[in-house]
Amino acid sequence: MKKQIVGILGSTGSIGQSALRVLSAPSGGNFTIGLLAAGSSWKEFVGQVNRQSPLWIYLDDPSARRRAMKKLTPMKTADHGVSKGSRWLINRAQLLRSLAQDSYDRLVVALSDFEFAAQALESALGRRDRKIVVLAASKEPMVVMGSYFRFLAERNGHQLIPVDSEPSAIFQCLGGNFKGAQDIHRIILTASGGPFYRNSVKHELVTPQMALRHPTWTMGRKITIDSATMVNKALEAMEIEELFGLSLDQIKIRIHPQSVIHSMVEFKNSSVIAQAGVADMALPIHYGLWWPRAASHASPARRIDWDSLRRLDFDEPDLRQFPCLAVALEAARFKGHERFVARSAFLGADEALVHRFINGELSYAQFPLVMRKAVNRALAVFSSKSVREKTLKAALEVFYWAQDFVNHWNGRLFVDRRQEVSA
Ligand code: NDP
Repeated sequence: MKKQIVGILGSTGSIGQSALRVLSAPSGGNFTIGLLAAGSSWKEFVGQVNRQSPLWIYLDDPSARRRAMKKLTPMKTADHGVSKGSRWLINRAQLLRSLAQDSYDRLVVALSDFEFAAQALESALGRRDRKIVVLAASKEPMVVMGSYFRFLAERNGHQLIPVDSEPSAIFQCLGGNFKGAQDIHRIILTASGGPFYRNSVKHELVTPQMALRHPTWTMGRKITIDSATMVNKALEAMEIEELFGLSLDQIKIRIHPQSVIHSMVEFKNSSVIAQAGVADMALPIHYGLWWPRAASHASPARRIDWDSLRRLDFDEPDLRQFPCLAVALEAARFKGHERFVARSAFLGADEALVHRFINGELSYAQFPLVMRKAVNRALAVFSSKSVREKTLKAALEVFYWAQDFVNHWNGRLFVDRRQEVSA
Protein backbone atom coordinates (compact mmCIF):
# COMPACT_ATOMS: atom_id res chain seq x y z
CA MET A 1 0.00 0.00 0.00
CA LYS A 2 1.36 3.44 -0.92
CA LYS A 3 2.58 5.45 2.05
CA GLN A 4 0.55 8.50 3.00
CA ILE A 5 2.51 11.76 3.18
CA VAL A 6 1.67 13.66 6.36
CA GLY A 7 2.36 17.29 7.27
CA ILE A 8 2.23 18.49 10.88
CA LEU A 9 1.81 22.19 11.65
CA GLY A 10 2.58 22.84 15.31
CA SER A 11 4.77 19.76 15.65
CA THR A 12 6.46 20.95 18.87
CA GLY A 13 3.18 21.49 20.73
CA SER A 14 1.07 19.12 22.77
CA ILE A 15 -1.06 17.98 19.80
CA GLY A 16 1.91 17.92 17.42
CA GLN A 17 3.88 15.67 19.76
CA SER A 18 0.89 13.38 20.21
CA ALA A 19 0.57 13.17 16.42
CA LEU A 20 4.22 12.14 16.17
CA ARG A 21 3.63 9.58 18.91
CA VAL A 22 0.78 8.08 16.87
CA LEU A 23 2.91 8.08 13.73
CA SER A 24 5.85 6.46 15.54
CA ALA A 25 3.72 3.64 16.96
CA PRO A 26 4.15 0.22 15.36
CA SER A 27 0.92 0.72 13.41
CA GLY A 28 2.26 4.04 12.07
CA GLY A 29 4.15 2.35 9.25
CA ASN A 30 1.74 3.49 6.58
CA PHE A 31 2.92 7.10 6.80
CA THR A 32 5.88 9.19 5.86
CA ILE A 33 6.44 12.71 7.18
CA GLY A 34 6.39 15.34 4.46
CA LEU A 35 6.45 18.49 6.58
CA LEU A 36 7.13 19.61 10.13
CA ALA A 37 6.41 23.22 11.08
CA ALA A 38 6.53 25.04 14.40
CA GLY A 39 7.12 28.47 15.94
CA SER A 40 10.10 29.05 18.23
CA SER A 41 10.89 25.80 20.12
CA TRP A 42 13.94 25.17 17.99
CA LYS A 43 15.69 22.59 20.19
CA GLU A 44 12.67 20.33 20.27
CA PHE A 45 12.24 20.95 16.55
CA VAL A 46 15.82 19.98 15.71
CA GLY A 47 15.32 16.72 17.61
CA GLN A 48 12.14 16.02 15.66
CA VAL A 49 13.84 16.70 12.34
CA ASN A 50 16.72 14.42 13.29
CA ARG A 51 14.34 11.62 14.18
CA GLN A 52 11.78 12.03 11.40
CA SER A 53 13.71 13.30 8.36
CA PRO A 54 10.78 15.19 6.85
CA LEU A 55 10.97 16.51 3.32
CA TRP A 56 10.06 20.12 4.27
CA ILE A 57 10.77 21.99 7.51
CA TYR A 58 9.69 25.40 8.79
CA LEU A 59 10.11 27.54 11.90
CA ASP A 60 8.09 30.76 12.01
CA ASP A 61 10.36 32.62 14.40
CA PRO A 62 13.37 33.96 12.42
CA SER A 63 15.89 33.79 15.26
CA ALA A 64 14.79 30.25 16.22
CA ARG A 65 15.09 29.33 12.53
CA ARG A 66 18.66 30.66 12.35
CA ARG A 67 19.63 28.66 15.44
CA ALA A 68 18.03 25.48 14.12
CA MET A 69 19.67 25.99 10.73
CA LYS A 70 23.09 26.01 12.38
CA LYS A 71 22.31 22.66 13.98
CA LEU A 72 20.96 21.19 10.79
CA THR A 73 23.66 22.20 8.29
CA PRO A 74 24.22 19.76 5.42
CA MET A 75 27.52 18.62 7.05
CA LYS A 76 25.78 17.79 10.29
CA THR A 77 22.86 16.12 8.62
CA ALA A 78 25.31 13.88 6.76
CA ASP A 79 27.35 13.20 9.93
CA HIS A 80 24.32 12.40 12.00
CA GLY A 81 22.61 10.29 9.45
CA VAL A 82 19.74 12.71 8.88
CA SER A 83 18.15 12.64 5.47
CA LYS A 84 19.86 15.22 3.28
CA GLY A 85 16.44 15.76 1.79
CA SER A 86 15.04 18.00 4.61
CA ARG A 87 14.59 21.39 3.01
CA TRP A 88 13.80 24.68 4.71
CA LEU A 89 10.82 26.81 3.88
CA ILE A 90 12.07 30.23 4.85
CA ASN A 91 9.00 32.36 5.32
CA ARG A 92 5.29 31.97 5.93
CA ALA A 93 4.40 32.66 2.31
CA GLN A 94 6.60 29.74 1.22
CA LEU A 95 5.01 27.48 3.81
CA LEU A 96 1.50 28.43 2.64
CA ARG A 97 2.54 27.89 -0.98
CA SER A 98 3.83 24.46 -0.07
CA LEU A 99 0.45 23.61 1.48
CA ALA A 100 -1.24 24.73 -1.72
CA GLN A 101 1.12 22.92 -4.11
CA ASP A 102 3.14 20.06 -2.64
CA SER A 103 2.15 16.43 -2.26
CA TYR A 104 0.46 15.94 1.08
CA ASP A 105 -2.18 13.30 1.73
CA ARG A 106 -2.95 14.27 5.34
CA LEU A 107 -2.32 17.51 7.15
CA VAL A 108 -2.51 18.03 10.92
CA VAL A 109 -3.23 21.69 11.73
CA ALA A 110 -2.32 22.16 15.39
CA LEU A 111 -1.03 25.73 15.53
CA SER A 112 -2.06 27.79 18.53
CA ASP A 113 -1.78 30.95 16.40
CA PHE A 114 -5.27 31.85 15.16
CA GLU A 115 -4.10 33.78 12.10
CA PHE A 116 -1.54 31.25 10.92
CA ALA A 117 -3.85 28.29 11.54
CA ALA A 118 -6.64 29.93 9.53
CA GLN A 119 -4.25 30.80 6.69
CA ALA A 120 -2.99 27.21 6.63
CA LEU A 121 -6.52 25.81 6.52
CA GLU A 122 -7.45 28.19 3.72
CA SER A 123 -4.36 27.25 1.65
CA ALA A 124 -4.81 23.50 2.02
CA LEU A 125 -8.59 23.41 1.65
CA GLY A 126 -8.51 25.90 -1.22
CA ARG A 127 -6.50 23.65 -3.55
CA ARG A 128 -8.23 21.82 -6.36
CA ASP A 129 -5.40 19.71 -7.80
CA ARG A 130 -5.42 16.92 -5.21
CA LYS A 131 -7.62 15.68 -2.36
CA ILE A 132 -6.31 16.05 1.18
CA VAL A 133 -7.55 14.84 4.53
CA VAL A 134 -7.18 17.82 6.88
CA LEU A 135 -7.12 17.10 10.61
CA ALA A 136 -8.14 20.37 12.27
CA ALA A 137 -7.03 20.62 15.90
CA SER A 138 -6.70 24.42 16.04
CA LYS A 139 -10.06 25.45 17.41
CA GLU A 140 -9.86 29.24 17.12
CA PRO A 141 -10.49 29.38 13.34
CA MET A 142 -13.37 26.93 13.72
CA VAL A 143 -15.11 29.03 16.38
CA VAL A 144 -15.47 31.97 13.99
CA MET A 145 -15.36 30.41 10.53
CA GLY A 146 -15.89 26.66 10.87
CA SER A 147 -18.76 26.58 8.39
CA TYR A 148 -16.61 28.37 5.81
CA PHE A 149 -13.80 25.80 6.17
CA ARG A 150 -16.30 22.97 5.88
CA PHE A 151 -17.74 24.62 2.76
CA LEU A 152 -14.23 24.94 1.23
CA ALA A 153 -13.52 21.27 1.99
CA GLU A 154 -16.78 20.07 0.45
CA ARG A 155 -16.52 22.30 -2.60
CA ASN A 156 -12.98 21.13 -3.39
CA GLY A 157 -13.43 17.47 -2.48
CA HIS A 158 -11.26 17.40 0.67
CA GLN A 159 -12.11 15.68 3.92
CA LEU A 160 -12.10 17.92 6.99
CA ILE A 161 -11.82 15.99 10.26
CA PRO A 162 -12.15 17.62 13.66
CA VAL A 163 -9.44 16.56 16.10
CA ASP A 164 -10.59 18.42 19.17
CA SER A 165 -11.76 15.43 21.24
CA GLU A 166 -15.42 16.45 21.63
CA PRO A 167 -16.10 17.45 18.01
CA SER A 168 -14.19 14.30 17.03
CA ALA A 169 -16.46 12.28 19.32
CA ILE A 170 -19.53 13.69 17.58
CA PHE A 171 -17.99 13.07 14.17
CA GLN A 172 -17.32 9.47 15.22
CA CYS A 173 -20.88 9.06 16.55
CA LEU A 174 -22.08 10.10 13.08
CA GLY A 175 -20.00 7.33 11.52
CA GLY A 176 -17.06 9.43 10.38
CA ASN A 177 -18.68 12.22 8.42
CA PHE A 178 -20.79 15.34 8.84
CA LYS A 179 -23.80 13.80 7.18
CA GLY A 180 -26.54 12.79 9.52
CA ALA A 181 -26.37 16.02 11.51
CA GLN A 182 -29.98 16.70 10.45
CA ASP A 183 -31.01 13.65 12.52
CA ILE A 184 -29.54 15.07 15.72
CA HIS A 185 -31.91 16.16 18.44
CA ARG A 186 -29.13 17.40 20.69
CA ILE A 187 -25.52 16.96 21.72
CA ILE A 188 -24.38 16.21 25.26
CA LEU A 189 -21.05 18.02 25.30
CA THR A 190 -18.95 16.72 28.17
CA ALA A 191 -16.36 18.68 30.16
CA SER A 192 -13.88 17.52 32.78
CA GLY A 193 -14.63 20.59 34.93
CA GLY A 194 -10.90 21.37 35.22
CA PRO A 195 -8.93 21.68 38.45
CA PHE A 196 -11.50 23.73 40.39
CA TYR A 197 -14.62 21.66 40.00
CA ARG A 198 -15.30 19.94 43.36
CA ASN A 199 -12.25 21.80 44.64
CA SER A 200 -13.62 25.30 44.77
CA VAL A 201 -11.06 28.03 45.40
CA LYS A 202 -11.70 31.77 45.75
CA HIS A 203 -10.99 33.22 42.33
CA GLU A 204 -8.85 35.99 43.87
CA LEU A 205 -6.47 33.34 45.16
CA VAL A 206 -5.99 31.31 41.99
CA THR A 207 -2.40 31.28 40.71
CA PRO A 208 -1.30 30.19 37.21
CA GLN A 209 0.26 27.07 38.73
CA MET A 210 -3.07 26.08 40.27
CA ALA A 211 -4.98 26.70 37.03
CA LEU A 212 -2.41 24.77 34.99
CA ARG A 213 -2.86 21.60 37.07
CA HIS A 214 -5.45 19.79 34.97
CA PRO A 215 -6.89 16.65 36.61
CA THR A 216 -7.33 14.47 33.51
CA TRP A 217 -5.84 15.94 30.31
CA THR A 218 -2.26 16.95 29.40
CA MET A 219 -2.43 19.90 26.99
CA GLY A 220 -0.80 23.18 25.99
CA ARG A 221 -0.92 26.06 28.49
CA LYS A 222 -3.59 28.20 26.79
CA ILE A 223 -6.14 25.40 26.49
CA THR A 224 -5.37 24.22 30.03
CA ILE A 225 -6.24 27.65 31.47
CA ASP A 226 -9.32 27.69 29.20
CA SER A 227 -10.34 24.37 30.77
CA ALA A 228 -10.00 25.80 34.27
CA THR A 229 -12.29 28.73 33.39
CA MET A 230 -14.47 26.43 31.21
CA VAL A 231 -14.08 28.89 28.33
CA ASN A 232 -12.81 25.88 26.41
CA LYS A 233 -16.26 24.28 26.60
CA ALA A 234 -17.98 27.34 25.19
CA LEU A 235 -15.41 27.45 22.37
CA GLU A 236 -16.18 23.81 21.62
CA ALA A 237 -19.91 24.52 21.60
CA MET A 238 -19.27 27.25 19.01
CA GLU A 239 -16.97 24.95 17.01
CA ILE A 240 -19.62 22.21 16.99
CA GLU A 241 -22.35 24.65 16.03
CA GLU A 242 -20.27 25.90 13.09
CA LEU A 243 -19.02 22.53 11.88
CA PHE A 244 -22.17 20.47 12.24
CA GLY A 245 -24.69 23.18 11.40
CA LEU A 246 -26.45 22.92 14.79
CA SER A 247 -27.83 25.63 17.04
CA LEU A 248 -26.45 26.41 20.48
CA ASP A 249 -29.80 25.40 21.96
CA GLN A 250 -29.11 21.86 20.76
CA ILE A 251 -25.90 21.65 22.82
CA LYS A 252 -26.12 20.67 26.47
CA ILE A 253 -22.92 21.05 28.48
CA ARG A 254 -22.41 18.54 31.27
CA ILE A 255 -19.46 18.16 33.65
CA HIS A 256 -18.19 14.63 33.49
CA PRO A 257 -15.16 14.53 35.80
CA GLN A 258 -14.13 11.00 34.79
CA SER A 259 -13.40 12.19 31.19
CA VAL A 260 -14.39 8.82 29.75
CA ILE A 261 -17.30 9.88 27.53
CA HIS A 262 -16.07 12.56 25.14
CA SER A 263 -19.54 13.53 23.99
CA MET A 264 -22.86 11.97 23.06
CA VAL A 265 -25.30 12.43 20.23
CA GLU A 266 -28.98 12.11 21.01
CA PHE A 267 -30.91 11.47 17.80
CA LYS A 268 -34.46 12.46 16.95
CA ASN A 269 -35.67 8.94 17.72
CA SER A 270 -34.34 9.33 21.35
CA SER A 271 -31.48 6.89 20.78
CA VAL A 272 -28.12 8.07 22.11
CA ILE A 273 -24.66 7.17 20.82
CA ALA A 274 -21.65 8.02 22.98
CA GLN A 275 -17.95 7.95 22.14
CA ALA A 276 -15.73 6.78 25.00
CA GLY A 277 -12.02 6.29 25.56
CA VAL A 278 -9.20 7.28 27.91
CA ALA A 279 -8.28 10.99 28.06
CA ASP A 280 -5.52 10.87 25.47
CA MET A 281 -5.42 13.02 22.32
CA ALA A 282 -3.69 10.13 20.57
CA LEU A 283 -7.18 8.67 20.02
CA PRO A 284 -8.83 11.47 18.00
CA ILE A 285 -5.55 12.06 16.15
CA HIS A 286 -5.28 8.36 15.32
CA TYR A 287 -8.90 8.44 14.18
CA GLY A 288 -8.12 11.25 11.72
CA LEU A 289 -4.85 9.75 10.49
CA TRP A 290 -6.45 6.38 9.79
CA TRP A 291 -9.88 7.68 8.76
CA PRO A 292 -12.05 6.01 7.45
CA ARG A 293 -10.56 2.74 8.80
CA ALA A 294 -9.31 3.78 12.25
CA ALA A 295 -11.14 1.07 14.17
CA SER A 296 -9.10 -1.71 12.60
CA HIS A 297 -5.66 -0.24 13.43
CA ALA A 298 -4.07 -0.31 16.89
CA SER A 299 -3.47 3.09 18.51
CA PRO A 300 -0.95 3.98 21.26
CA ALA A 301 -3.79 5.02 23.61
CA ARG A 302 -4.44 2.85 26.65
CA ARG A 303 -7.72 0.99 26.96
CA ILE A 304 -10.40 1.96 29.49
CA ASP A 305 -9.94 0.04 32.71
CA TRP A 306 -13.52 -1.19 33.05
CA ASP A 307 -12.72 -3.01 36.33
CA SER A 308 -11.94 0.20 38.18
CA LEU A 309 -14.59 2.35 36.51
CA ARG A 310 -17.43 2.58 39.04
CA ARG A 311 -19.46 5.60 38.03
CA LEU A 312 -20.00 8.18 35.34
CA ASP A 313 -21.30 11.57 36.50
CA PHE A 314 -22.90 14.26 34.34
CA ASP A 315 -23.44 17.46 36.32
CA GLU A 316 -24.83 20.76 35.18
CA PRO A 317 -22.15 23.48 35.39
CA ASP A 318 -22.84 26.20 37.95
CA LEU A 319 -22.38 29.47 36.09
CA ARG A 320 -21.60 31.26 39.38
CA GLN A 321 -18.64 28.94 39.87
CA PHE A 322 -17.64 29.36 36.19
CA PRO A 323 -18.53 32.98 35.32
CA CYS A 324 -16.27 32.95 32.24
CA LEU A 325 -18.41 30.16 30.78
CA ALA A 326 -21.44 32.43 31.21
CA VAL A 327 -19.68 35.33 29.44
CA ALA A 328 -18.47 33.05 26.64
CA LEU A 329 -21.94 31.64 26.08
CA GLU A 330 -23.35 35.18 26.02
CA ALA A 331 -20.82 36.08 23.32
CA ALA A 332 -21.75 32.93 21.43
CA ARG A 333 -25.44 33.76 21.31
CA PHE A 334 -25.31 36.88 19.16
CA LYS A 335 -26.79 36.54 15.70
CA GLY A 336 -25.77 37.71 12.24
CA HIS A 337 -23.02 40.30 11.98
CA GLU A 338 -22.79 40.73 15.76
CA ARG A 339 -22.10 37.03 16.19
CA PHE A 340 -19.01 37.31 14.00
CA VAL A 341 -17.73 40.36 15.88
CA ALA A 342 -18.54 38.98 19.35
CA ARG A 343 -16.81 35.66 18.71
CA SER A 344 -13.71 37.23 17.16
CA ALA A 345 -13.49 39.71 20.05
CA PHE A 346 -14.02 37.01 22.65
CA LEU A 347 -11.19 34.92 21.19
CA GLY A 348 -8.80 37.88 21.18
CA ALA A 349 -9.73 38.98 24.70
CA ASP A 350 -9.42 35.48 26.12
CA GLU A 351 -6.04 34.85 24.54
CA ALA A 352 -4.63 38.12 25.87
CA LEU A 353 -6.13 37.49 29.34
CA VAL A 354 -4.58 34.02 29.54
CA HIS A 355 -1.24 35.45 28.48
CA ARG A 356 -1.33 38.27 31.05
CA PHE A 357 -2.56 35.94 33.79
CA ILE A 358 0.31 33.48 33.17
CA ASN A 359 2.72 36.43 33.27
CA GLY A 360 1.27 37.54 36.62
CA GLU A 361 -0.12 40.80 35.20
CA LEU A 362 -3.83 40.21 35.78
CA SER A 363 -5.69 38.12 38.29
CA TYR A 364 -7.92 35.14 37.54
CA ALA A 365 -10.83 36.95 39.18
CA GLN A 366 -10.68 39.68 36.53
CA PHE A 367 -11.32 37.41 33.57
CA PRO A 368 -15.14 37.68 33.33
CA LEU A 369 -15.33 41.44 33.76
CA VAL A 370 -12.59 42.21 31.22
CA MET A 371 -13.94 39.64 28.72
CA ARG A 372 -17.43 41.10 28.85
CA LYS A 373 -16.14 44.66 28.50
CA ALA A 374 -13.97 43.69 25.51
CA VAL A 375 -16.87 42.02 23.70
CA ASN A 376 -19.33 44.84 24.39
CA ARG A 377 -16.83 47.50 23.38
CA ALA A 378 -15.96 45.59 20.19
CA LEU A 379 -19.64 45.37 19.29
CA ALA A 380 -19.92 49.16 19.64
CA VAL A 381 -16.70 49.91 17.74
CA PHE A 382 -17.21 47.46 14.89
CA SER A 383 -20.88 48.06 14.32
CA SER A 384 -20.28 51.74 13.65
CA LYS A 385 -17.02 51.13 11.75
CA SER A 386 -18.83 48.27 10.08
CA VAL A 387 -16.92 45.04 9.56
CA ARG A 388 -19.46 43.86 7.05
CA GLU A 389 -17.59 41.05 5.35
CA LYS A 390 -17.20 37.77 7.25
CA THR A 391 -13.65 37.27 6.02
CA LEU A 392 -10.54 36.12 7.83
CA LYS A 393 -9.14 39.64 7.46
CA ALA A 394 -12.22 41.09 9.19
CA ALA A 395 -12.10 38.46 11.97
CA LEU A 396 -8.43 39.22 12.59
CA GLU A 397 -9.07 42.94 12.75
CA VAL A 398 -11.54 42.41 15.60
CA PHE A 399 -9.38 39.70 17.24
CA TYR A 400 -6.29 41.93 17.41
CA TRP A 401 -8.37 44.91 18.50
CA ALA A 402 -9.67 42.87 21.46
CA GLN A 403 -6.15 41.69 22.34
CA ASP A 404 -5.06 45.29 22.36
CA PHE A 405 -8.00 46.24 24.56
CA VAL A 406 -6.98 43.64 27.16
CA ASN A 407 -3.29 44.46 26.88
CA HIS A 408 -4.06 48.09 27.65
CA TRP A 409 -6.48 47.27 30.44
CA ASN A 410 -5.12 49.47 33.18
CA GLY A 411 -5.77 46.95 35.91
CA ARG A 412 -7.94 49.27 37.98
CA LEU A 413 -9.14 46.21 39.85
CA PHE A 414 -5.80 44.49 39.76
CA VAL A 415 -4.70 43.08 43.08
CA ASP A 416 -1.48 41.15 43.01
CA ARG A 417 -2.17 38.22 45.30
CA ARG A 418 0.79 36.13 44.23
CA GLN A 419 2.87 37.08 47.24
CA GLU A 420 -0.02 36.49 49.61
CA VAL A 421 -0.56 33.03 48.10
CA SER A 422 3.07 31.98 48.23
CA ALA A 423 3.53 33.40 51.76
P1 NDP B 1 0.70 24.16 22.32
O1 NDP B 1 0.84 25.49 22.91
O2 NDP B 1 1.17 22.98 23.08
O3 NDP B 1 1.44 24.12 20.88
C1 NDP B 1 1.20 25.10 19.92
C2 NDP B 1 1.98 24.76 18.67
O4 NDP B 1 1.77 25.81 17.72
C3 NDP B 1 3.48 24.69 18.92
O5 NDP B 1 4.06 23.76 18.05
C4 NDP B 1 3.94 26.10 18.53
O6 NDP B 1 5.29 26.15 18.14
C5 NDP B 1 3.05 26.32 17.34
N1 NDP B 1 2.93 27.73 17.01
C6 NDP B 1 2.40 28.72 17.76
N2 NDP B 1 2.49 29.89 17.12
C7 NDP B 1 3.11 29.62 15.94
C8 NDP B 1 3.51 30.41 14.83
N3 NDP B 1 3.29 31.72 14.78
N4 NDP B 1 4.12 29.79 13.81
C9 NDP B 1 4.34 28.46 13.82
N5 NDP B 1 4.00 27.67 14.84
C10 NDP B 1 3.39 28.25 15.89
O7 NDP B 1 -0.83 24.02 21.93
P2 NDP B 1 -1.70 22.70 21.83
O8 NDP B 1 -0.97 21.66 21.06
O9 NDP B 1 -2.26 22.38 23.15
O10 NDP B 1 -2.94 23.24 20.97
C11 NDP B 1 -2.81 23.53 19.59
C12 NDP B 1 -4.23 23.82 19.06
O11 NDP B 1 -5.02 22.65 19.22
C13 NDP B 1 -4.96 24.94 19.82
O12 NDP B 1 -5.79 25.62 18.93
C14 NDP B 1 -5.82 24.17 20.82
O13 NDP B 1 -6.98 24.89 21.19
C15 NDP B 1 -6.17 22.94 20.00
N6 NDP B 1 -6.48 21.77 20.82
C16 NDP B 1 -5.56 21.26 21.68
C17 NDP B 1 -5.87 20.15 22.47
C18 NDP B 1 -4.85 19.54 23.38
O14 NDP B 1 -5.13 18.49 23.96
N7 NDP B 1 -3.68 20.10 23.54
C19 NDP B 1 -7.20 19.53 22.43
C20 NDP B 1 -8.04 20.11 21.45
C21 NDP B 1 -7.71 21.19 20.67
P3 NDP B 1 6.49 26.50 19.19
O15 NDP B 1 6.19 25.78 20.45
O16 NDP B 1 7.68 25.96 18.47
O17 NDP B 1 6.51 27.97 19.35
